[in-house]
Amino acid sequence: MDGTFSHDVAFEDLDEPPASTPTFLDRLFDQGLLVRTGVDGLYGRSGAFESVVDAVDRMISGIGAGDGAEVMRFPPGMSRAVFERSGYLKSFPNLAGTVHSFCGHEADHAGLLACLDAGEDWTGDQAATDIVLTPAACYPLYPLAAERGALPAEGRLFDLQSYCFRREPSLEPTRMQMFRMREYVRMGSPEQVLAFRESWLARGEAMIRDLRLPLAIDVANDPFFGRAGRMLANNQRAQGLKFELNVPVNSLDKPTACLSFNYHQDHFGTTWELRQADGAVAHTACVGFGMERITLALLRHHGLDLTAWPESVRARLWG
Ligand code: ATP
Ligand code: ZN
Repeated sequence: MDGTFSHDVAFEDLDEPPASTPTFLDRLFDQGLLVRTGVDGLYGRSGAFESVVDAVDRMISGIGAGDGAEVMRFPPGMSRAVFERSGYLKSFPNLAGTVHSFCGHEADHAGLLACLDAGEDWTGDQAATDIVLTPAACYPLYPLAAERGALPAEGRLFDLQSYCFRREPSLEPTRMQMFRMREYVRMGSPEQVLAFRESWLARGEAMIRDLRLPLAIDVANDPFFGRAGRMLANNQRAQGLKFELNVPVNSLDKPTACLSFNYHQDHFGTTWELRQADGAVAHTACVGFGMERITLALLRHHGLDLTAWPESVRARLWG
């Protein structure tokens, strides 16, 4: 695939409210769909919000049902050793979240409580544990797949979902610090994984059209950190390694990536010594669905009252 692939579809008018009216995030809070925690990007979700997440999740399962993907679910924390070897810290050190825990003795405990009382920093005796927060649903998978030995000739396909953490606090409800990512991950030859990505580009587009949302698919890049990162981002774009399915949610100028289609080439295969049946390094690709982002796109376009959504959309989700 070259980097010029693009389906441009005219975006509907989003009816941007004047500056004085509540933002989309305010309206979500006011309706109780999202619940404030005092931290930007960290929210509770209402039953109504979750009913949409669940329905979208079922819809994705339905679309992928014939493919025989192996279902795996990991908790939202992953092995620090795996995380370190994955290369995440080279590319996105600013987004990573680590789990620290109190590792002191009784005297240290007294010191901690004294700091807390005095309103001072109490985190001095917190030490890094062997767990970090999962940044993308597929990160814990690769070493486990590699441990099974070489891939069978037909490759492998996995179905994942996880809460993910990225330290990117924002007032845009679509940019959360903790959110759910559903993924299908394909491992095999370049041809196998590219065919997988091609088919999900078409399926993802059909799915979002069925939900009557405006969309555009564009070549994209990850937000690699620093000056060296800009080069990585340019390469990723030039080689057409990442595509995003964008839906305007917060604004028309900056539509939101609701699905991502990533071709990692042999990056994870090399990192984890994952081999194809013939011994060549395996290639991998994944399609990621932002569960909250798709839900927010539906709420933005069809309204905050789920019962008033277009009948065809309700039927597709709950029919
Ligand atoms: P963006 O460019 O908007 O930061 P991304 O391209 O880095 O997103 P991916 O790493 O490809 O996102 O993650 C897969 C999917 O997870 C995205 O398509 C998106 O729907 C969702 N996602 C990513 N970051 C967030 C976030 N901060 N809050 C909610 N959903 C997110
Ligand atoms: Zn992935």
